[in-house]
Amino acid sequence: MLKNDLLETWDRENFFHPSTHLAEFARGEAPQRVITGGKGCHIEDREGNRLLDAFAGLYCVNAGYGRPEIAEAIADQARELAYYHAYVGHGTEASITLAKMILDRAPDHMSKVYFGLSGSDANETNIKLIWYYNNILGRPEKKKIISRWRGYHGSGLMTGSLTGLELFHKKFDLPLSQVIHTEAPYYFRRPDFAMSEADFTAHCAAELEALIEREGADTIAAFIGEPVLGTGGIVPPPAGYWEAIQAVLDRHDILLIADEVVTGFGRLGSMFGSEHYGLKPDLITIAKGLTSAYAPLSGSIVSDKMWKVLEQGTDENGPIGHGWTYSAHPIGAAAGVANLKLIDDLGLIANASETGGYFRAAMVAALGEHAQVGEIRGEGMLCALEFVADRETRQFYDPADKVGPRIAAALASEGVIGRAMPQGDILGFAPPLCLTREEADTIVAATEKAVRAVLG
Ligand code: PLP
Repeated sequence: MLKNDLLETWDRENFFHPSTHLAEFARGEAPQRVITGGKGCHIEDREGNRLLDAFAGLYCVNAGYGRPEIAEAIADQARELAYYHAYVGHGTEASITLAKMILDRAPDHMSKVYFGLSGSDANETNIKLIWYYNNILGRPEKKKIISRWRGYHGSGLMTGSLTGLELFHKKFDLPLSQVIHTEAPYYFRRPDFAMSEADFTAHCAAELEALIEREGADTIAAFIGEPVLGTGGIVPPPAGYWEAIQAVLDRHDILLIADEVVTGFGRLGSMFGSEHYGLKPDLITIAKGLTSAYAPLSGSIVSDKMWKVLEQGTDENGPIGHGWTYSAHPIGAAAGVANLKLIDDLGLIANASETGGYFRAAMVAALGEHAQVGEIRGEGMLCALEFVADRETRQFYDPADKVGPRIAAALASEGVIGRAMPQGDILGFAPPLCLTREEADTIVAATEKAVRAVLG
């Protein structure tokens, strides 16, 4: 690969990068990295650096990089039939097979899969289906959606509204008025330090109940949540949380969307987070781990209960007026089929649980006593460290100090990629599910060095 060509210049001059400080990037003040290859848990850049990607891209390359089984399935599909649409009853062997494979793995009460391209568009689909459902049932007022502060559900107009992070609203005129937010299930940031975990769960349920009563249950259609908060800080729920929340939703006839874009297909050491925490969702959002990001593909898994009403709706109104040109794209579907087979064949879900547990325990052994590490948490192949100026008083750093981003940068210079989560000084890890114990040890050793380099 040539090093003295114009790629870096072209990049700064032409490429509008998502989630990037645009001005700093254009001025050459923010880093750029051109990735050229990947194998297993490692990627390589054009400078020849080999990095351990402990965030699996954006927690999506679950099967690991460079899997020939998936690459060949994609190539075969592209040669045979690169594209045909899925409108008015069309399909391909890959898309029909994948829908069956997903339903075989999903909770028993789920009925059908609608395919999209991204987690964001799948959640847009979910909201449209919910509005349609309530219109068919003759409840046109029941339309608001409750999301949680710190939830992440995408970057579109509706999904950016559902997302409960300031950066995704500020200056974009979001959230839209149909979206309301409730307490994040974030025990470490509980409002009163004296609260037990059970107290905090009861507090989250009471906050939800109070919000529903204020707004009126007959105006609220659904609640959306990630089984484990992801981009909001990698935060497993407090004990009993989902049970308590579902009881409130049931009481008020409010649908539940489990956003499993991160947790679906093994990330928690279970096939789905819904199974992991005993959720009974009406819709499940899937993306990322569905294809391990070898091709863009997402899905909305629809429950029996909703499906029956959608059928009734089309009998009354004609075909469902919702479709993307690339819904069920054959190349994405072929990647999905090969990926789900590989996850089974390699036992990656069991590895997420076993090696993920080993990884977190090693992180706790290395840094659990550090005076500025407030908490080390996670589930399955997810881990996060939250940094605080003072552990006793739980005093957070000033965001201007950029403690999290500085630690992530120090970690990268040790050859390991973690992610500075966008709100708070939180270093997140979500490695490929094929991580080995040796690789986990490498991440922990590099993290310890990076934390000590920045915080002492
Ligand atoms: N939902 C969750 C839980 C996510 O983590 C993400 C992306 O990180 C999305 C939805 C949006 O997915 P996409 O970026 O593919 O639109």
